[in-house]
Amino acid sequence: MTTEKVTKVVIVGGGTAGWMAAASLARLIGQHLDISLIESDEIGTVGVGEATIPTMMTLHQLLKINEQEFLTAVQGTFKLGISFENWKNIGESYIHSFGLTGQDCWAGGFQHFWLKGKERGISEDFGHYSAELMAAKAGKFAVLPNNGLSYAYHMDASLYAKFLRKIAEAAGAQRVEGKIVKVNTDNNSGNIESVVLDSGRVIAGDLFIDCSGFRGLLINETLQTSFDDWSQWLPCDSAIAVQTASVSEPIPYTRSIAREAGWQWRIPLQSRVGNGLVFRESLGLRRKYGCC
Ligand SMILES: Cc1cc2nc3c(=O)[nH]c(=O)nc-3n(C[C@H](O)[C@H](O)[C@H](O)COP(=O)(O)OP(=O)(O)OC[C@H]3O[C@@H](n4cnc5c(N)ncnc54)[C@H](O)[C@@H]3O)c2cc1C
Repeated sequence: MTTEKVTKVVIVGGGTAGWMAAASLARLIGQHLDISLIESDEIGTVGVGEATIPTMMTLHQLLKINEQEFLTAVQGTFKLGISFENWKNIGESYIHSFGLTGQDCWAGGFQHFWLKGKERGISEDFGHYSAELMAAKAGKFAVLPNNGLSYAYHMDASLYAKFLRKIAEAAGAQRVEGKIVKVNTDNNSGNIESVVLDSGRVIAGDLFIDCSGFRGLLINETLQTSFDDWSQWLPCDSAIAVQTASVSEPIPYTRSIAREAGWQWRIPLQSRVGNGLVFRESLGLRRKYGCC
């Protein structure tokens, strides 16, 4: 552990993770830092990542992002939860909504009142007391005063990275175009000291943040702190993503539909729907459907 002051921050990668890190650091403590973000147009970004969770609102409040400007920039829509369809039995579904169900009071949690109501035959289903669930089921949404609803967004992840880039650069972060071909580490500590671009340019830093995507250029390939293998619990290891034009008003939730091999997502944006199928490569689905 070092106690040296951090002044030069190097962010590796310009996808959503990289620009979120750059925008946050630059806008909140940028005056104390020299922030560079390195990305390579040749490598590009993964581009998926359209459905979010409510903590995104916390980040936006912190960064003072205007919701209307954000939604316009990213073709965004509102998300009240996720509809899980066919997971237990074909034809059955339930919506996992955000927010709280019912109202606690000083005398006890809502569930006690609900159970007592059940005994007396006056309670509705538990979900009936969630505003988010009832709105999602009705296909409705409204921005209520005092954060009356808990919600998240559907968005175009590539547009979101561009939106954040503007914020980060306006607050002083600098984008560097180039492909990192080498990472230099200190012989004694093993800490990363600098990265070398294909142009030969060397960029040194006090703090490196790895946002290079699945590869994990710094944390995985250089520092060998690789991902934990969870494949025994999560058998699906591949995905195909396809976009289609919107043919109706966007629904205010994400759909997750169990299929014969894996599961499908459907994410409504303003002008398109993001679709994808998550599956296990070894089942040979790509060959079966002749894709990729
Ligand atoms: C099928 C699928 C569906 C997903 N759906 C969702 C979802 O609905 N919601 C959600 O929140 N997340 C989702 N995710 C996860 C989400 O997409 C990713 O976590 C996120 O987009 C990754 O962004 P990133 O910025 O970490 O990486 P990337 O977008 O991969 O960006 C990597 C960056 O690193 C740069 N880079 C890499 N190597 C080098 C190098 N050598 N030199 C220079 N630059 C380099 C690239 O140029 C790029 O800018 C999904 C992921 C997948 C695969």
